[in-house]
Amino acid sequence: MGLVIQAHKPGNPFEAICRWIDRAAHLLGYDESTTKPLKHPRRCVIVSLPVEMDDGRVEVFVGYRVQYDTARGPCKGGVRYHPNVTLEEMMALAALMSLKCAVVDVPFGGGKGGVACDPTRLSHRELERLTRRYTAEIFDIIGPDKDIPAPDVGTNPQVMAWVMDTICMKRGYLEPGTVTGKPIPLGGSRGREEAAGRGVLVVAREAFAHLGLRLEGARVVIQGFGNVGYHAARLLHEEAGARVVAVSDVRGGIYHPEGLVPQQVKEYARNTGSVVGYPGARTISNRELLEIPCDLLIPAAIEHQITAENAERIRASVIVEGANEPTTPEADEILRRRGVLVVPDLLANGGGVVVSYFEWVQDRYGYFWPEEEVRARLELFMVRAFQAVLATAERFGVDLRTAAYCLGVERIVEARRLRGLYA
Ligand code: NAD
Repeated sequence: MGLVIQAHKPGNPFEAICRWIDRAAHLLGYDESTTKPLKHPRRCVIVSLPVEMDDGRVEVFVGYRVQYDTARGPCKGGVRYHPNVTLEEMMALAALMSLKCAVVDVPFGGGKGGVACDPTRLSHRELERLTRRYTAEIFDIIGPDKDIPAPDVGTNPQVMAWVMDTICMKRGYLEPGTVTGKPIPLGGSRGREEAAGRGVLVVAREAFAHLGLRLEGARVVIQGFGNVGYHAARLLHEEAGARVVAVSDVRGGIYHPEGLVPQQVKEYARNTGSVVGYPGARTISNRELLEIPCDLLIPAAIEHQITAENAERIRASVIVEGANEPTTPEADEILRRRGVLVVPDLLANGGGVVVSYFEWVQDRYGYFWPEEEVRARLELFMVRAFQAVLATAERFGVDLRTAAYCLGVERIVEARRLRGLYA
């Protein structure tokens, strides 16, 4: 109980999500008895992880797993390895996952976990020992029918392979559906790597069509050139004929008004460690990048990049949020007033969890789909989710973010009502 009271202090990341839940619940006409349980995670686990380092020292790390909501299915959510991992952040991200799964309509609740550590300072073997110890500590609450982890910031398919192996060794049988985002030879899904970027492409196309615009020839600016940003750039260039005029990573950005070829930029970044210095393009800062005049802006790096400080200077017609929480609530208000169409994270980056759902389904069947089938089904889920959010926006006369929260809250509450209150 103490944890929850602490989490409701204003200023922490979970508080912002609770405010959105309150707003959605108010529009939906829900009373306090309906709304209150939505603002409490079902279970929070904190574990300490003694790990032997390569030099023989024992370091103790702190790990978390938050299981937010299970009304619609087992918990689903990533595992983050980052120095800033805290319980409040895990609670906020787990709540977002619950809402996202409901918005894209996959049969999962939400969860999130992580370890406060800097994975870039750990050796391969240290990372493996840390991952196996973390998995062993949360073993009892993880599984294909309970809670299914996936990669997030600082983790990758290799880390998921260690999580899966640890669970399978302890159980004594193979259970690939226990994690998603695994390497393909271990039961991973084709199309999982590009899934979030492909989802961004689909919702961007739907948003443009809604405004009577076309993606072909549209000027696109993308912040972050990792998994989401790179695949979104590549697909917008290759499949939609859009002109990707600027991209960036943590070191800075590059701008070329005639358009960049994302695959070539990726090749350059692979060799040099950054997009910065790409021949023929002008080097710019991440701050400048966000203010370039364009038709489509895709923040795909980290949270809180569009703020009250720069929102007035954003010159994009449409923003599609590839990252989680890239826009602060204050900036969101400014963009709304200025008539910028913002497709919110809850919807825009849902492609990742949709293909995670496909991976879980394939693992349970032991039958794997070709990539074209994954793509076609992802397209179906994302178009359907976009249309459902749009219809909700029209029903309440609100923006897409408020509508996505309303849709997510409504679907979770419906499941809770049907199940009733266990006593
Ligand atoms: P990633 O680590 O692959 O890429 C992140 C990119 O952002 C890198 O290019 C990095 O250099 C850049 N970056 C980091 N800090 C930056 C900064 N301060 N300024 C500018 N650029 C910076 O991560 P990812 O998987 O692409 O995730 C990006 C965002 O998308 C995160 O918010 C993540 O939670 C969200 N997301 C990812 C997925 C997925 O399937 N990968 C799904 C849903 C949401």
